[in-house]
Amino acid sequence: MRVLLFGRDGKVGAVLMGALRAAGHEVEGVEAGEPVDFAGFEAAVDFTAPAAVFGNAAAALSAGVPCVIGTTGLADTDLAELDRLAREGRIPCFLAPNFALGAVLMMRFAAEASRSFPHAEIVELHAETKLDAPSGTAKATAARMGGEVPIHSVRLPGLVAHQEVILGGPGEILTIRHDTTSREAFVPGVLLALDRLRGLPPGLTVGLEALL
Ligand code: NAP
Repeated sequence: MRVLLFGRDGKVGAVLMGALRAAGHEVEGVEAGEPVDFAGFEAAVDFTAPAAVFGNAAAALSAGVPCVIGTTGLADTDLAELDRLAREGRIPCFLAPNFALGAVLMMRFAAEASRSFPHAEIVELHAETKLDAPSGTAKATAARMGGEVPIHSVRLPGLVAHQEVILGGPGEILTIRHDTTSREAFVPGVLLALDRLRGLPPGLTVGLEALL
């Protein structure tokens, strides 16, 4: 596919540039402030920043280019507007708060465990450069567990992306933990999203589990 990648020089973007090309895609990277010509592109991928992603995705959708969004921190009103733009253009827009397969399984296991353990808390740990808190993954996990789950956010150098779901009951503790040790973890999920993009319905689809 001809893919436009917003966030070319970022920590995730730099990994994706090589990985998408190695998988056979024709990729053009865009950084902040660079002019964009959407003509001829079949998909736009965004791994930028909470303040940038809405503008990038709205411009791509308005130009008729389907989107794959990894950037977290979008407001619900922004998500509703992206959904509207994608439906209007009859094209798909896919967003995943976490493209790592293990994180998707962690959310599924946490949802199942919360049915037996009513007391639970989430600790999410990310690099100090992550701008939004709590993480999109932690919010999605809490929603799948029923919503009322306290979330603790840690931002420190040396971390990549980690999350613990701690469930407590009388005399026992169950901990479900996922560690992303390298940004390569997000590559298979992004490739899967590009592969399935055209088959998705018009509008916004959220979560890698929708593709699995
Ligand atoms: P990062 O290292 O800060 O990279 C972001 C890149 O985007 C930077 O090079 C930045 O340039 C660039 N950028 C900013 N505004 C832009 C614009 N308008 N157009 C094009 N490029 C722009 O961040 P990261 O660690 O790669 O993560 C990027 C985003 O993805 C974050 O929101 C993070 O939380 C999210 N993320 C999601 C997943 C997932 O699985 N869904 C996984 C990892 C990360 P400047 O430095 O010049 O501003």
